Amino acid sequence: MAFFQAPPTLGNQFTTDKTLRSYLERALPDDVRRDVEPELHEMGELSGGYFFELAARHRGAEPKLVQWDAWGNRVDAIEITPLWQEAARVAAEKGVVATAYERKHGEHSRIHQFALAYLFDGSTEVYTCPLAMTDGAAKTLTVHGNRELVEHALPRLMSRDPARAWTSGQWMTERTGGSDVAISETVARKDGDTWRLYGTKWFTSATTSQMALTLARPEGNPPGGHGLALFYVETRDAEGRLRGIQVNRLKDKLGTRMVPTAELTLDGTPAAPVVGLTDGIKHISPMLNITRTWNSIGACLAMRRGLALARDYAGKRVAFGAPLADKPLHVDTLAGIQAELEGAFHLTFRAVELLGREEARTLTEEESLLLRLLTPVMKATTGKQAVAAASEILESFGGAGYVEDTGLPRLLRDAQVLPIWEGTTNVLSLDLLRAIAKAGSFAPIEREVRRRVEGATDAGLASVGKVALDAVAHAGAWLARTFQQGQPAVEAGARRFTLTLGRSLELALLVDHAGWAMTCGDGRPAAAARRFAKHGVDLVLDDETREDARLLMAD
Ligand SMILES: Cc1cc2nc3c(=O)[nH]c(=O)nc-3n(C[C@H](O)[C@H](O)[C@H](O)COP(=O)(O)OP(=O)(O)OC[C@H]3O[C@@H](n4cnc5c(N)ncnc54)[C@H](O)[C@@H]3O)c2cc1C
Repeated sequence: MAFFQAPPTLGNQFTTDKTLRSYLERALPDDVRRDVEPELHEMGELSGGYFFELAARHRGAEPKLVQWDAWGNRVDAIEITPLWQEAARVAAEKGVVATAYERKHGEHSRIHQFALAYLFDGSTEVYTCPLAMTDGAAKTLTVHGNRELVEHALPRLMSRDPARAWTSGQWMTERTGGSDVAISETVARKDGDTWRLYGTKWFTSATTSQMALTLARPEGNPPGGHGLALFYVETRDAEGRLRGIQVNRLKDKLGTRMVPTAELTLDGTPAAPVVGLTDGIKHISPMLNITRTWNSIGACLAMRRGLALARDYAGKRVAFGAPLADKPLHVDTLAGIQAELEGAFHLTFRAVELLGREEARTLTEEESLLLRLLTPVMKATTGKQAVAAASEILESFGGAGYVEDTGLPRLLRDAQVLPIWEGTTNVLSLDLLRAIAKAGSFAPIEREVRRRVEGATDAGLASVGKVALDAVAHAGAWLARTFQQGQPAVEAGARRFTLTLGRSLELALLVDHAGWAMTCGDGRPAAAARRFAKHGVDLVLDDETREDARLLMAD
């Protein structure tokens, strides 16, 4: 009999997720947990079963842009894949966005929602992209309180009826740049009572959305970020025709291939200012904070899904006389990824908790400062972890990890977008510096790390906690010293500084959770903390590296 390898399979993605279940046990009051668990169970079943099979059936399917109809009319219709159509239905019905706005469980509603999103994402080929922007748009409209827009759009953005539900785009990036959006070229002109937009948007994901939030410069406004305004756009008229929008082409991307990311020309697109006619970059920031949180959820999920597949496969694949699951080195390799996942998970859900408290108005001033500092740190740190983990996951399948129709290479390709969109690692590091300058220090992060580790009664956990404390102290000393040398010196080390804070926070949160889990007789999270601490937490370099960098990069 010839040998055929059994492929990896998945079970219910909620019941098998020890990290998520243990976290929910600690973070949610019992009555809330009992109420949300059936929904999470159902989502875990859909993700590991129905959607996992559907994704395999539609592997390789991509959205299509039809620019002209048979009679020569420009139509620019984007056809999404059957998997995405189904994902849209289920996301609406299960309230993957709505749960946050229905706020059934008060300050815990964001934990409820993001646990759903975390389970939903694995098999839907990044349908979380439009959901993230939809959530971000709902938040932005709510924060700015433009009554007309809120009353018109919010019920649709949070609808559980798939026939009525809207998604939103976020059109910021232009050919001039996605990081430095202050130099955007799109102009807003007044036409009677209506504003109309003229320009090119260079990356617009989920272009099938019914609305978008975007930036444009009202005519006569000064250059720079201050002169840009935040606009609301509805993409189609009552007959379904695009409103002054041309879809030039879909991007041919490395990954996220099911996400229709388009280049658009805006030629008289009707738009409404969301809040005033200046400071658009500042005004769109609520959206970015939400999409960055979704990005980190996506990073955790990328690791979680890869590990679920790799663990199952390790039980089936036999090499040198035993399943890989019995090979100490293979187990050690996967355990390292698991520890990284658990760190990323606890940091992300810490931000989610704070977001929920902010929306329930129970956030303290200290927590508000912490959330501002935490968001770029979380997004930068988890994005990097996801790419490293995805690469290791593919290797753990050997050659099969490199072969398209196993569905595995997608894990790495899709992970690679996580450190790019919604702010690259460098751009987030500089954003953190700005936030620190505004707050006067990064003390809220220092205090968070201290609070999380000081309760550790177990000696092993306490010494692991000290690794986090030492790393934060080192980062603080570096910042104080380098600050004296001027902005270029601080910028040069900003990424190492940011990732050190991110990894310290992850470790401290792991220690905290592990201490609680030990009291329940669960020693597993402590193993994650011990392992994580050995992966390198302090990345700050004391020596002046700028001269070496200059030498290395000189022509
Ligand atoms: C799949 C995909 C989907 C996307 N969807 C959307 C969307 O829906 N809406 C949208 O608005 N955008 C979208 N984007 C665009 C994305 O947000 C931008 O590509 C991203 O923000 C980076 O901008 P950029 O491409 O202009 O890179 P650049 O800004 O040119 O950056 C190039 C490099 O320079 C570094 N860099 C930039 N400035 C500095 C600095 N001051 N110091 C040090 N390093 C710096 C960056 O870290 C990066 O490594 C999408 C991108 C991708 C890949």
